[in-house]
Amino acid sequence: MVDVDKLKATVREAVEEQRGRLHEISRYLYENPELGSEEFKSAELLTYELESHGFQVERQLHGIPTAFCATYKGKAQGPRIAVIAEYDALPGVGHGCGHNLISAAAVGAGVAASSVMEQLDGEVLVVGTPAEEGIGPSAGSKVILAKKGFWDDVDAAMMCHPSSIYSVGTRLLGIWRISMEFEGQTAHTAVDPHNGVNALNAATLAYIGTHMLRQEARRDANVVISGIITEGGLASNIIPDRAVCNFGVRSSDEAYLEEMVEKVARCAEGAALATGARVKVKKRRVYSSKKQNPPLIDVLWGNYASQGLEIEHWKETYTGMPLASSDFGDVSHVIPVVSSNIKVGEPGLPGHSVQMADATMTEQGQEAMTVGAKALGMTLVELLAAPEKLKAVKEYFDAN
Ligand SMILES: [Zn+2]
Ligand SMILES: [Zn+2]
Repeated sequence: MVDVDKLKATVREAVEEQRGRLHEISRYLYENPELGSEEFKSAELLTYELESHGFQVERQLHGIPTAFCATYKGKAQGPRIAVIAEYDALPGVGHGCGHNLISAAAVGAGVAASSVMEQLDGEVLVVGTPAEEGIGPSAGSKVILAKKGFWDDVDAAMMCHPSSIYSVGTRLLGIWRISMEFEGQTAHTAVDPHNGVNALNAATLAYIGTHMLRQEARRDANVVISGIITEGGLASNIIPDRAVCNFGVRSSDEAYLEEMVEKVARCAEGAALATGARVKVKKRRVYSSKKQNPPLIDVLWGNYASQGLEIEHWKETYTGMPLASSDFGDVSHVIPVVSSNIKVGEPGLPGHSVQMADATMTEQGQEAMTVGAKALGMTLVELLAAPEKLKAVKEYFDAN
């Protein structure tokens, strides 16, 4: 029998040994932020690093130019457990979502776990998943990988994300995007407005109607509706014949989310009817909400809590209000997954901001990345070394 606690101690030491190198990796990404689908330098650095530690690297995974899968095999065949790297930045705010730390922690966890793999059966994977923020042709690459069947022979996946608290197993909202294109008729606004059909008025009615839906939305379903009007006319003396709105609709309840999407679409149809405009509505599911896995959450949480940090018990937080959406949600419907937050700054630190990007490079941010790498690394090893835990994770997944 392998001694799991001893393996975990080795993993923590291995992360400590990499501290300087992980700092360099996160700094390079911070200083060279690349938008989704264009993360060529980032992917090159991460794959190079993993290869130099003996990982077998498959680049351009399933034809996605900046996706990769790095594998480190144990002494015999067995379960394949993945840690997820994200490395896309945001327009204007660089690594304002802190993905530079997600990838450094994933590399740290994978390399640390690899140092004990000669004692274990199975494989550790570091999977590079670009364009989480939804930009470019690789947008939502985890969904693309799910459609290609990549996750089907992975047994579980985990990751960490910068935040202003430590927590494990927080929920994710499902999200749909809806676009409405209104078409009317131009006319002179003073001479013959009666000959026009005002597409902007239709868009305005749809915008207002959609926002009125919030009042009756089920509060336990965590509905979020956000919208913008992207086109609304060319000149104030021309009745606009074209107006476009884009909406994001989110909820933690997938079935209810589809209902809300239909209601939002009806606002467009109602507005078109009222104004005499025509409307084209496009609805698209973007990311799914997350299917939770308490047995897996419990293992990862234990590996955070054992590091002596301030973290609420996962049972206190995992039914809390979900705040974000991610393509990791889609993976959760294929295999058991768990995500965690690492505390890079104090509460009030805005997400998607320059402040968040800067926080990743502070002493606190770097410490949080190391804590995340250790927790993920220990969890990779624990799931391989204690087959009964992985069995419980899979049984829960199958039964729910
Ligand atoms: Zn983000
Ligand atoms: Zn993010």
